[in-house]
Amino acid sequence: MITTPKYTRDLLPAEFSNDTSAQVHRFQFIEERARDLFRRYGFKEIRTPIFEHTELFARGVGTETDIVSKEMYTWKDINGDSLTLRPENTASVIRAYIQHKMWGQAETVKLFYVGPQFRRERGQKGRFRQFYQIGAEVIGNSDNPAIDAECIEMIMQLVADVGIGNAELRLNSVGDAESRPRFAEMIRRELAPKISSMCGDCQRRYETNPLRILDCKLDHEVVAGLPSTLDLLTDDARQHFETVCRYLDARGISYKIDSRLVRGLDYYTKTVFEVVSGSLGSQNALLGGGRYDGLSKELGGPAAKGFGFALGLDRFAMTIPENSGDQGNPDLYIAHLGAAAFERALVLVQGLRKKGIAAAVDFETRSLKSSMKLADKLKARYVLILGESELASGQWALRSMKDSSQSTISAENWLEEITNLVGAEEAV
Ligand code: AMP
Repeated sequence: MITTPKYTRDLLPAEFSNDTSAQVHRFQFIEERARDLFRRYGFKEIRTPIFEHTELFARGVGTETDIVSKEMYTWKDINGDSLTLRPENTASVIRAYIQHKMWGQAETVKLFYVGPQFRRERGQKGRFRQFYQIGAEVIGNSDNPAIDAECIEMIMQLVADVGIGNAELRLNSVGDAESRPRFAEMIRRELAPKISSMCGDCQRRYETNPLRILDCKLDHEVVAGLPSTLDLLTDDARQHFETVCRYLDARGISYKIDSRLVRGLDYYTKTVFEVVSGSLGSQNALLGGGRYDGLSKELGGPAAKGFGFALGLDRFAMTIPENSGDQGNPDLYIAHLGAAAFERALVLVQGLRKKGIAAAVDFETRSLKSSMKLADKLKARYVLILGESELASGQWALRSMKDSSQSTISAENWLEEITNLVGAEEAV
């Protein structure tokens, strides 16, 4: 049997998956809520290719990051180009911003995306090699802290809208171009006596990119002893951070300042943040993001500023309440008895579906008992019973599966009566 590659999975309709976190309707529910919310904040969707030139991620994400150094799916195309399955979407969005000269057409560009990302990670609970992200980016001339605060407000609203109650917002500033050398110098100075006890990766990072050491999962204790990088911020970066905090306070959004938070991508400047959930276990990050004022220039574009975030849909799907989302089960199932009823049923479902009702009919002839069993299995809300006597009398029986109550539908006015009872909205 050919199965999904390691650490990838199928997302399935609920009836085919006992693993609720892999049920596709939960993903759809989160996506729908996000689309609705983002529209209200003025974000429009962008869809970029699933693969890009490798150089985009090498330059955009940073060669010292785990993502670029270990986790990318990269191959040589027949013409010699090096291509990579996207491990994240921000670099692609900025590439599109530059390629389509969006900066010349809008003062502030607000884009969101929904789609799969690929990283060759060691799989575990909440960590997959193909996973799904929803993200949003604000790109333009301004680095006003109000942008940071509004984006954080929006994502915290989404967390609440999908019913996640136990999330914690963690906030930090990784400073600006002037603060970074101060951080690096402090980290090198403090860690010089401890180099030999650090992991191989951190020994290398010590030389190439010391800030990355703060992100190390292995050298946790070494990192815990370091002084706070917040004390080393330039006046400009400190003021920016304090203003973001003040704007969040004014909105009643609570957060925890975590000076160790640097996140796994090199492009961040000033604000970085993460939202974690206690119910997720070791892979507890629901989402992360921050400011990336240097990325556009780094990728050959204008010196545009940027702020954005990406949330892990797989992790959201694991965390939202049990009954979230609509599984897409029938509103109504027609149990037909006899050839004439079958033909009538085929036409009835057409009319109902046009009216926006999810109407189901089985193509086999069954007994009433077997039909009712099937309706139950399909989790239909109502069953319309259509037999010879019903057809003859013009009085049809509509049974509610919830409480077994029964109503009578008249053949002349069936569409209106059923639509009213089943209560579905009219199709657009
Ligand atoms: P990042 O792009 O690394 O900033 O990640 C943003 C969010 O995507 C994280 O907070 C996770 O929720 C999610 N995520 C990242 N990597 C994975 C993965 N391998 N599997 C599942 N979710 C992931």
